[in-house]
Amino acid sequence: MSTSGRLQPGRTGRERRGVSPARRPPSGRVLEAVYRALLETHGPQQWWPTAAEDPETKRLEICLGAILTQNTSWRGAAAALARLHAAEVLSCAAIAECSTDALADLVRPSGHFRVKARKLQEFARTVIEAYGGSVDALLAGEASEIRERLLAIWGIGPETADAITLYAARRPTFVVDAYAYRLFERLDLAPGERRYDVYRRFFLDAIGPDVWRLNEWHALIVRHGQRVCRRLSPLCGECALLERCVFGRAELGLPRGARA
Ligand code: SF4
Repeated sequence: MSTSGRLQPGRTGRERRGVSPARRPPSGRVLEAVYRALLETHGPQQWWPTAAEDPETKRLEICLGAILTQNTSWRGAAAALARLHAAEVLSCAAIAECSTDALADLVRPSGHFRVKARKLQEFARTVIEAYGGSVDALLAGEASEIRERLLAIWGIGPETADAITLYAARRPTFVVDAYAYRLFERLDLAPGERRYDVYRRFFLDAIGPDVWRLNEWHALIVRHGQRVCRRLSPLCGECALLERCVFGRAELGLPRGARA
């Protein structure tokens, strides 16, 4: 899940340029240390929060939530989902049959509500027309197949496709978002250029196909970005990663720590 929105320009030169240096990527040992620190700070997260009770509706809710949270906070997406629930518009048939204006009004709390209503309807109609109305049919198979199917739907980009693949289909992939770019650039651990596929491939290879851990990694990065490593005024003095964080140590006027 991205609860992030788009990364705004930060205060470092690297953040302003939106690029990472050409350098060796972080080792597995360094990544493990970062993961442990995040886990100890925030505890297990194990996403994705849903209100629905039956498994297929839960998966649909995750798909809709992944679309609704594009470029907005999770709070807005959750409010939109609650309105869909209350209006009993939480099935592909109901979404497809709803007028676009009425749907837009229901998802208004998620922002960009007209385009998001269109995206939800595009998703619902694809499930109905190409997968017999079954979200589970859309989400069946290997991660790469599911991802390709999702990316073929208008309104679903790589981050949304990976969120759905990981959290709804429970297949291994890594979700890259603004929080991930920010955290790894500030730690000076960017695995290469700030490009979605570079980050995704690197972390997927480094973490491996453990869905539980991939789930936890993304959730912890988001939680840390929301609560500690904030875009403006990060809480570096309280951060468990300060020891190894280039940005944080510079912010606090401390000598550079060890990277590995
Ligand atoms: S020390 Fe500061 S900049 Fe570094 S990860 Fe922690 S909060 Fe972010």
